[in-house]
Amino acid sequence: MAKAKLDPTEGTPFEAVIGLEVHAQLKTRTKMFCGCENRYGAEPNTLTCPVCLGHPGSLPAINRRAVEYAVRVGLACGCEIARFTKFDRKNYYYPDLPKNYQISQYDMPLCGGGAIDVYVGEAKRRIGLTRIHLEEDAGKNIHAEGRPESWVDLNRAGVPLLEIVSKPDLGTPEEAGAYLRMLRQILLYLDVSDCNMEEGSLRCDVNVSIRPRGTSALETRTEIKNLNSFTFVENALAHEIRRQIKVRSSGGTVEQQTLLYDPARDETRVMRGKEEAHDYRYFPEPDLAPLSFTEEWVEGLRRSLPELPAARYERLQNALGLSAYHADVLVRDRGMADFFEECVALYPKPQAVANWVVNAVREEANIRQVSARETGVSPSRLVDLVRAIDEGKVSNQKARDVFKALLGNERPVADVIRALGLEQISDDAFLRDAVSAVIQEHPGPAEDVRKGKKNSVNFLVGQVMRRTKGQANPGMVAKLIGEVLGAS
Ligand SMILES: [Zn+2]
Repeated sequence: MAKAKLDPTEGTPFEAVIGLEVHAQLKTRTKMFCGCENRYGAEPNTLTCPVCLGHPGSLPAINRRAVEYAVRVGLACGCEIARFTKFDRKNYYYPDLPKNYQISQYDMPLCGGGAIDVYVGEAKRRIGLTRIHLEEDAGKNIHAEGRPESWVDLNRAGVPLLEIVSKPDLGTPEEAGAYLRMLRQILLYLDVSDCNMEEGSLRCDVNVSIRPRGTSALETRTEIKNLNSFTFVENALAHEIRRQIKVRSSGGTVEQQTLLYDPARDETRVMRGKEEAHDYRYFPEPDLAPLSFTEEWVEGLRRSLPELPAARYERLQNALGLSAYHADVLVRDRGMADFFEECVALYPKPQAVANWVVNAVREEANIRQVSARETGVSPSRLVDLVRAIDEGKVSNQKARDVFKALLGNERPVADVIRALGLEQISDDAFLRDAVSAVIQEHPGPAEDVRKGKKNSVNFLVGQVMRRTKGQANPGMVAKLIGEVLGAS
């Protein structure tokens, strides 16, 4: 069912052409062109000043950190970084834009070209970028349900915003989702944005058209605005592609429109019809000098880039031998992947460690909405637990109870295993006695084992486990039963 939803062109003579425009707020301390605090959730209109309120005569100044963040993103995506760039005014009128223009970048964006590699199932696809530029965010209009008036909150006005525009290289809603997830991971790894879609720090517009499969011309497209979750992006695209296929299949033509997606009803509404060629009357921002960068400055930023998610995803599989699933789950959360790598440095059994991090640690972190580190089990204690399992001191099943008992305290793993009475018994002589006793009590099944019935081995192991209150090492017990009864 999910598959049909994600590939709406399947079984039709059409293919979809999708491009994404993503806006990411940068998490600088202050706004893009003034010293106001850049913070979400403050009392409305408390983080403002004459510059971001657009008072006449106030002068903007460029936030150096925001430029640095933007260049880091460009470098991480393999873009060409402009050595000379400028800001422009984009003129339009709207209540949340007190200056009546937005400072943006028009014909000389900070970054051009570049690409993002995305993984869809087994396949890796390279999605090209058109450009990345810097601009400022607008304020926010607030329309309260059932009230005749609207409000404007200008705390967001002037917050640094990065616009990342992809080429129309995406073919399915699933690919669009994968692209967004990878872009989000890159921004999080670079530590330049919170990427919190609910708070609006990551927002997405999509362009979509269809064309006969195998052709290459770009046809009339529609744009869907203001999608604030990955699921909405995928659902809205699937919905819109199906709608366009229906129109074309019945002999109609797709009109150029801007649409709004209603997630509650899974439908799109027309926001405005054929967009008149907007005259934003762009012109160079006269209050800001153009920017030029030295080679050294750009190269310094390049050298400071962390390992990026795609490279890490491949390394975890190729160098550490993890499954694609484990690598993917770990890489999605930088803190979780760092935690995992610290564990492996202490105990170089990557897959065994990954199982515990991906299951137990992640589950606990998700339930409590904390990071891996904040769960209260340090890498060294988790590693002690994995080692205890490997050494047969506790069974894999009981280890989950030990893990729970490790949370929120500093007690050594060995002590916790002992205190819970979960020590696994691997003592040969003790287990032999238990096996002999069970064989005497159950001569029928023992005879079956001698005749080669595997199921009866399981029965006898179960009896030994019962006798030892679950503490016997089941692997050793099975082996001993085989030895004693002369079965393999
Ligand atoms: Zn301000």
